[in-house]
Amino acid sequence: MRRVIFLGPPGAGKGTQAASLAREMDVPHLSTGDLLRAAVAAQSELGREAEGHMKAGRLVPDDLVLRLLRERLDQPDARDGFLLDGFPRNVAQAVSLGRITLVDRVLDFRIPSASLIERLTQRRNCPKCRRVYNLRTQPPRNDAVCDDDGTLLVTRPDDREEAVRTRLRVYDTETAPLSEYYRGRGILRPIDALGEPAEVARRVRAAVADLTGSSEPL
Ligand code: AMP
Repeated sequence: MRRVIFLGPPGAGKGTQAASLAREMDVPHLSTGDLLRAAVAAQSELGREAEGHMKAGRLVPDDLVLRLLRERLDQPDARDGFLLDGFPRNVAQAVSLGRITLVDRVLDFRIPSASLIERLTQRRNCPKCRRVYNLRTQPPRNDAVCDDDGTLLVTRPDDREEAVRTRLRVYDTETAPLSEYYRGRGILRPIDALGEPAEVARRVRAAVADLTGSSEPL
């Protein structure tokens, strides 16, 4: 099966890599950050509860995130596999996930923390197609609009420096211990996340080649 988790600090490039890998593996890309942002945009009750935590860079309470994720995993397109991006974020979430489904592989994106603040504060997103740019290293062709659909790019409210610092701290204390958790289960693969996106993509494909049934990296 192709039930894959992307683990790694904010700014490591998980979202970029997840979008293309999910397409190639023909599984849905499930980002709890995206699900939460959609709930905030819709101003649902859950979205209103999550909003303050997200803006500050803190984790949203586990029960809210689990509710969203469970609903999404129940959809028919997630039956044969999924690529989870941004979940689990702590050991309690990993334990809850283990009660819902098996996991085949966890890719652990490794990157020196010094690179992350710049990567996050220079990040711009297309709100329509979710493509991610970096003003310094992956700039859009045309000022501030998306190359693919011309939509005005946005800065996530939690990519401002103060929230970024909180997110990195939260990662170190709450999420990083998951490497050990999954290493102990024999399904963790470290990924060197530094370098060109195409180079990182090759490492990612090599780490899941056996799951996708291709002897060559995709
Ligand atoms: P991301 O897009 O993955 O960087 O997530 C953005 C924000 O959404 C995080 O900083 C958290 O506030 C919230 N969030 C996303 N996924 C989770 C999760 N699994 N548990 C708790 N909060 C989350």
